[in-house]
Amino acid sequence: MPAINTTANGGMGGGKTRIAADIDFEADGKQVTWLKLPHSVHRSAYGHIAIPIACIKNGKGPTLLAMSGNHGDEYEGQVATTRLIRELEPKEIKGRVIVLPAANFPAAMAGMRTSPIDQGNLNRTFPGDPDGTPTWMISHYIETELVSRSDVILDLHSGGSSLLYIPSALMGVSKDKARTKKLLALTEAFGAPVGYVNLGGGGDRTSTGAAERAGKLRLGTELGGAGMVGLDSTRIAVEGVRRIMEHMGIAKETDLTRKKPKTRMMDVGGDDYYVYAPDAGLFEPHVDLGAMVKKGQTAGVVQFVDNPMRPPVPALFPRDGMVLCKRVPGRVERGDCLFHLSTDR
Ligand code: CA
Repeated sequence: MPAINTTANGGMGGGKTRIAADIDFEADGKQVTWLKLPHSVHRSAYGHIAIPIACIKNGKGPTLLAMSGNHGDEYEGQVATTRLIRELEPKEIKGRVIVLPAANFPAAMAGMRTSPIDQGNLNRTFPGDPDGTPTWMISHYIETELVSRSDVILDLHSGGSSLLYIPSALMGVSKDKARTKKLLALTEAFGAPVGYVNLGGGGDRTSTGAAERAGKLRLGTELGGAGMVGLDSTRIAVEGVRRIMEHMGIAKETDLTRKKPKTRMMDVGGDDYYVYAPDAGLFEPHVDLGAMVKKGQTAGVVQFVDNPMRPPVPALFPRDGMVLCKRVPGRVERGDCLFHLSTDR
């Protein structure tokens, strides 16, 4: 089923959000509540989708927006932000932390990448639409009401159901040198084993695009994935959020930052960094995460269990690099992403 956006103009159009929020972003203290996204359906004529949100504020200082569940099946960040809401007290900080733990709430509750209501992939809907379907309404709210109030947007992703990553923090490229420097510092500050620059760019329809339009800094992550809550990757998520607060001066520096493990800074470029399934079948990988590979090396082969004498079809690496990400499910269709590489900066 294709994504449904009921809008006529397909864009932001300067409209105001119809999502109600019983929250005062200027008030000191800790507020934990729900956004109310109007949703009139058969079982609930005057109902709304209740999307959890928290604002923890103490005096003047920078604002961090920590969000997860942009893709509903990426769980490490959701654990980290849920814990953050329960554990963080205003007296520990100077400034403000806005937490949106399940950004595409219907997707997060379904444990799916996209919304079961409108099939929306939240990170392909920015700048959203106040009069669109729920996913478009949410991205519009994030862009107009949350990104606009924030200095740093930390959007916690993982590999989701189909991919697994070496836990990474990542940034987009910017033409502005001063901005790039700040983004590089943020990427390192998170403290993941890998920090990478996504040279391919995030695109206008992502949270990166939203941050760019507002002139804000956006840090992303790819924390693990495989549709699970990884032990190491979840610890990295929890500690990384804290380190970003320390880096921004919202929280006092602790040993988490002072004794931070070294981050390997890398690049992820365009299409030649990616390996796609050349045929439909069962993919047998020949390398694992972290492998250093060469151009032309066999990444794996597609086997044909339904026709055993048919020779397997190899998938080759288009360039040298390190295997940063791999596909999880064994069955593949032509065009599925099997691996992507990174290269040292
Ligand atoms: Ca994602």
